[in-house]
Amino acid sequence: MKTHNLLLLPGDGIGVEIMAEVERIIEFFNGRSDGDSFETTSDLVGGAAVDAHGVAITDEAMAKAVAADAVIFGAVGGPKWDDVPYDIRPEAGLLRLRKDLDLYANLRPAICYPALADASSLRREIVEGLDIMILRELTGGTYFGEPKETVTLEDGSKRSVDTTLYTTGEIERVAKVAFDLARKRGNKVHMAAKWNVMKTGVLWREVTTQTHKDYAPDVELEHILADNCAMQLIRNPKQFDVILTDNLFGDILSDEASMMTGSLGMLPSASLGSPDEKTGKRKALYEPVHGSAPDISGQGLANPIAMIASFAMALRYSLDMGEEADLIDKAVAAVLEKGLRTGDIMQDGKKQVSTSEMGSAILEELGVLMA
Ligand code: NAD
Repeated sequence: MKTHNLLLLPGDGIGVEIMAEVERIIEFFNGRSDGDSFETTSDLVGGAAVDAHGVAITDEAMAKAVAADAVIFGAVGGPKWDDVPYDIRPEAGLLRLRKDLDLYANLRPAICYPALADASSLRREIVEGLDIMILRELTGGTYFGEPKETVTLEDGSKRSVDTTLYTTGEIERVAKVAFDLARKRGNKVHMAAKWNVMKTGVLWREVTTQTHKDYAPDVELEHILADNCAMQLIRNPKQFDVILTDNLFGDILSDEASMMTGSLGMLPSASLGSPDEKTGKRKALYEPVHGSAPDISGQGLANPIAMIASFAMALRYSLDMGEEADLIDKAVAAVLEKGLRTGDIMQDGKKQVSTSEMGSAILEELGVLMA
């Protein structure tokens, strides 16, 4: 039995409310007589840290993040901090965490719970039971490549340039994550790129082919043009298991896939770094995809499921607690099946509950499943 060290960073707005529900689940697991347990520390991030310390994350909090087995992150930002200087804006806290922990692999599952299939923009039969994983490279590519600039030309008009840049190493390390993930799922990876028109696309194809041969010949690998992938996601999303792609295409494809699942309040994510040379453990941060939702914060209206599912991802991908992660996922599905809904996923004939009532219902189901 192990004790896992977690850093909780609730952040701002609904981040605080939904993190409280994760803390209740942690307490529940800590109350078991057998099984792994958790030690947690909390700290400020985002606007809350700006108010208290004048920066979006302190060096002390960063040191705790480096030392933790996993960082569980809520959400940051809000209108209160709209006018603070750019360098200390709330989002800078999240960006520093991603950068300093070198979190290059962003996992965004798109799962459609049968109970919510009618909330999707696609027909029930196309999305019901959907379970795909988009793996987006997060620290390279078009958003970071240099030169990145706008220059004014002699005639007064402007010319802007963004640079899409990848190295073999950057592609190989994220491809390995994709193959590792596929082995624990449906054993299939689609690599989406534009090798027909982009040099980086050619490199993505070459490196993933080689990595597949050397590292994961047991996993099925298919290359798919990114535009075709966007189309296939709408036509027949269940053909996919893991989709591996670069930073720019991943940004777009993961948003597209997420909308099949119903609501922003349902979407978890994980960001992983390289395995430690000695322990093999990866630096990792888990967070819901949504933001701090200032329009509903403080009213008990937030859906805690994306946050709770992010915690379940931490159990699965950082803490070797896959069984407990499965139980959380089952408990969420059961609560939805019983017709409980927060406002964002409310449907006719269902019962609307608050953030903490949803948390309590999930805890109760967990208790039943583990009895
Ligand atoms: P948002 O995700 O906070 O909210 C978008 C809409 O979805 C809102 O109507 C909100 O009420 C709803 N919503 C979001 N999460 C919900 C949940 N769990 N339950 C129920 N409804 C939910 O995006 P926004 O309004 O564009 O941004 C608000 C603030 O959050 C901004 O300051 C933005 O910069 C920040 N933000 C932070 C992150 C992050 O921390 N990773 C991500 C996105 C936005």
